[in-house]
Order: sequence, then C-alpha cells, then structure tokens
Amino acid sequence: MKFETELKTAIEAVEKACRLCRDVQSSLVSEETMTKKDKSPVTVADFGAQAVICRALKEAFPEDPIVAEEDTAELNAGGGESLMARIMTHVSAILPNITKSEVIEAIDSGSSQGGGEKRLWTLDPIDGTKGFLRGEQYAVALALIENGEVVLGIVGCPDLPFDINDPGSETGCLLWSIKGEGAYIKPIGEGSSAKIHVSDITDSREASFCESVESSHSSHGDAEKIAEILGVTNPSIRIDSQCKYAVIARGDASIYLRLPTRKDYVEKIWDHASGALIVAEAGGMVTDIHGRELDFSLGRTLLSNKGIVATNGKFHDKVISAITQVLGDR
Ligand code: AMP
Ligand code: MG
Repeated sequence: MKFETELKTAIEAVEKACRLCRDVQSSLVSEETMTKKDKSPVTVADFGAQAVICRALKEAFPEDPIVAEEDTAELNAGGGESLMARIMTHVSAILPNITKSEVIEAIDSGSSQGGGEKRLWTLDPIDGTKGFLRGEQYAVALALIENGEVVLGIVGCPDLPFDINDPGSETGCLLWSIKGEGAYIKPIGEGSSAKIHVSDITDSREASFCESVESSHSSHGDAEKIAEILGVTNPSIRIDSQCKYAVIARGDASIYLRLPTRKDYVEKIWDHASGALIVAEAGGMVTDIHGRELDFSLGRTLLSNKGIVATNGKFHDKVISAITQVLGDR
C-alpha cells in the first residue's frame, strides 16, 4: 500500500497527541481548575499536541513542510514561562528526554505557508477547542497533501463514543484514510481497524444534520430553513470539531453543513483536509456551499471556497440547491 510508512508514523503521532490531550483534561478535572474562562488548558494541550506530532514528522520526514495551526509567538505573548512549564510536563510524559528548545523548535516547524508544494502535512493539534474546554468533543487532525490533493487523513476523536446513540459506550475513535483505499475506524491505542461507510439513505427526508455547537461557526438559522426545504425533521447532532466528518463517514448522520456567518471568514486547510478525505473515501461527497471542490493548494486557507457541505453523496445536488435557495448569492 502506498504511504504505509507515512500512515504508521502519523497514526502513532496522533495517538500520542490524543493521550497528551486526555492527560491535560484529566489533570484539570482532578485539580478542578477547568473553567470556561480559563483558556490555558487548551493552550497547554494545543501546543503540547503540536510539539509531539511535529517532532515525529520531522524525525521521519525531515524534508516535508508542515502547515500547523499554532506557533510560539502567541505563546511568548501571553502567559510565558508558567505555560511553557506546563507544556513541558505534559510533553515529557510522552517524550521523556525532550528539551525545551526542542519543543519550541518542533512547534515552530509547523509554520509553512503551504501552497501547491509537492507534498506537505497539515495539522490541527486540537480542533474544537471550545468542545475541549466544555469536556465534550474535540479532534486531533493530521493530513498529508500531495500536489494540492489530500492523500492521507487522520482524525483522532478522544471523546467520541463508538455508538453515537449510547454515550456510555467505549469512547476514543481514530478514523483514517488513504486516497483510493477506503476509510477506517479503530480505537485510539491498541485495536484493529474496521472499514466504515456513509449512510445508504437516498431520501433527504430521512437524513439527520450534523452541525457545529457554536452558531458563530455555522448559521443554525439558515440550517433550519435548509432542513425545511429538504424535509429533514430528525433532530440535528451538534458536536464540535472534525468529529462531524467522523459522524458522517460512519453513517450516524448524512448532512454536515458549515454555513458562513461572516462574509470575510476563510476556512483553514487544517480544519477540513483530514475529515474531507475520510468522508469521500467512506463513499460520501464534500464540496463548498456552491458545490465546488475544496482546493487545498492555495496556502493555509481554502481561499477559493465558501463554507462546507459534506453528505453521504446520495442527494448532494439537492442539498446545494436548497442552500442556494436560502442563501442566494450571499
Ligand atoms: P467547529 O468545532 O466545527 O464549530 O469549528 C471549530 C473551528 O472553527 C476552529 O478550528 C476555527 O478554526 C473555526 N472557526 C473560527 N471562526 C469561524 C467562523 N467565523 N466560521 C467558521 N469557522 C470558524
Ligand atoms: Mg480547528
């Protein structure tokens, strides 16, 4: 299989990062310091996860550029030394002999500007930071892009239950895909992979939406109007992060809409590369709200796209025309 070494390295790195995120979360719960206003836990886990993954990628593929969300300039600006000490504690638990300067170097190795380079990685160390802070869904997302096309995608979902209808079921799913090879799910850590497929419903009236918890990331009001046109009456699944792509790829829901709330917002490549490949490889379809293919070759953002639409592929055009009806040329 093509990209076998890349897949092995990337899955191991994402699993380590998921462990770090879980460690940060559980130490917070035990110290009872996690409050919605205190953003530092997410900062510690964001930087820690980015350090662990970038370090692994640079060791295995030193020539590959990385487009990752965080950089240490932000870290130096606020909080400084005490935050760095907490990051070191958590990264050292995963990579025992690493030094502070190596951690900083690893984090800042994610500052590539992207573009149509031959091959590059894109990383969101914690997607869905608001979910992480609420103790709900978040994801660690890593993808490999070759000549502007996503060829490998991994979404680690530490809090996602295997059975969406049973929150008490085992949590911690890792979804992965290589272009042309289908999409798979495995438990984070030990365990084997099983093939996944989008839902096979063909009537949009039987569909469920999966959408952002945050109405500032996707308009809930517009989604309601679109649901009405499509005859969708099932309750929406609202979760943070690229776990939404996981839910579509597993067939738990059939329509993920990300409807612009602001004219000037441009989607980031690390928020969509992994999830979009996994849904497509699970048999679904992913475009922007105008039905255009996502273009990952234009730098750190999806400059030529607006919003996101991911479906099981059975009524994608119908969804796009319902969106056009509601949004007009907005
Ligand atoms: P979600 O968890 O799907 O609601 O989205 C989380 C992601 O939304 C973050 O990674 C941000 O990069 C992204 N984001 C921030 N502001 C906006 C916005 N105005 N519209 C869409 N996405 C946004
Ligand atoms: Mg994100």
